[in-house]
Amino acid sequence: MTERLYYTDSFLREFDAQAISCEASGERFEVVLDRTAFYPTSGGQPNDTGRLADANVVDVFERADDRTILHVTDRPVLPGAVHGAIDWERRFDHVQQHTGQHLLSAAFLKLFRFPTVSFHLGREISTIDLDAPSVVPRHIEEAERLANQVISGDRVIAVSFREKEDLAQLGVRKQVEREGTLRLIGIEGFDIQPCGGTHAERTGQVGAILARKIERQKQLWRVEFVCGGRAIRSARSDFETLGAAAREIGCGPAELPEMVKKLIEEGKRANRERGRTTERLAEFEAQALLARGDKIIIHAFDEGDAAFVRRVAATLAKQAGVRAVVASRAARHFVFAQAEGLGGDVNRLLREILTPAGGKGGGTKEFAQGTVPEAANVDELMAQARERMEREGE
Ligand SMILES: [Zn+2]
Repeated sequence: MTERLYYTDSFLREFDAQAISCEASGERFEVVLDRTAFYPTSGGQPNDTGRLADANVVDVFERADDRTILHVTDRPVLPGAVHGAIDWERRFDHVQQHTGQHLLSAAFLKLFRFPTVSFHLGREISTIDLDAPSVVPRHIEEAERLANQVISGDRVIAVSFREKEDLAQLGVRKQVEREGTLRLIGIEGFDIQPCGGTHAERTGQVGAILARKIERQKQLWRVEFVCGGRAIRSARSDFETLGAAAREIGCGPAELPEMVKKLIEEGKRANRERGRTTERLAEFEAQALLARGDKIIIHAFDEGDAAFVRRVAATLAKQAGVRAVVASRAARHFVFAQAEGLGGDVNRLLREILTPAGGKGGGTKEFAQGTVPEAANVDELMAQARERMEREGE
């Protein structure tokens, strides 16, 4: 089994070891060392990356049967003495997120008795799943505040090794599957947990915790959070987003919610007003068409949406004996309508004319509507409709 140097020193960036084996696996190589500072993907924390001799380490994982650590490299590593260096920026980010998770989980447990049942350290955000009846913003705010107090208290985080039987006596409630000697992570006067991950040496190194979204996840509650550098980046990105929105609207970021609400209300009011104006205009256009005295009315408007065309056609069809086809060139929408009591079937007629042009639609014998694709020629279809209606109307 590989000796894990990160177990006792999470801040070890470079190390010397013996390469024991190197086996090709597809285009990659799997290297086994006698000792390593590389963290293998486990416990919700992703692997380290870095260099082994002149090879890039692209993945690190544990062999399931004997827990040997395999370093996946892009080129072979010769057996014998080898120098390793981990990508520190990536490791330190993981240290901040992972230690932050211990703090946040402990805070939820202490304040509300919500245990954490799983942890995931993602590329942008991390999550914990809480076993709780419900989690509301107040819980998040209070747990975040407590965790940040412990961070600013800059408490010592100590690694110790204990036998499994001693855990209950130390106040560890978590059930542990692993037997024998366990690695414990203790945060001075706050929390103690069995864990194999990489942690800060003092809570101050976490920088800050920012809890974000809460989301119901089956029977659990998922809490998103970011720590340290990520907390700064996400706060900056939120500020830029809010600033851009505020500039667009012409207010300060703090006034955004009120302004957005106002704009939405104004938009709704304007829509209602436009709806009423369109209705009045449709009535007016219909009356103008009826004034010509024709019984078959075929008319295409340049503008207007489907609702406008429907309204015009409906008004026309209220007039006894009228058959009408009304369309909008802009919306490529057609309405076929006829007054009650006339023979014929405008739905059938609409399908016969629109379907060959790739159009879709339908309705009743008295009122049918449909839309044709961009490529269809609205005026050509209107001419066909006129011809058919005049023939059938005879
Ligand atoms: Zn841990």
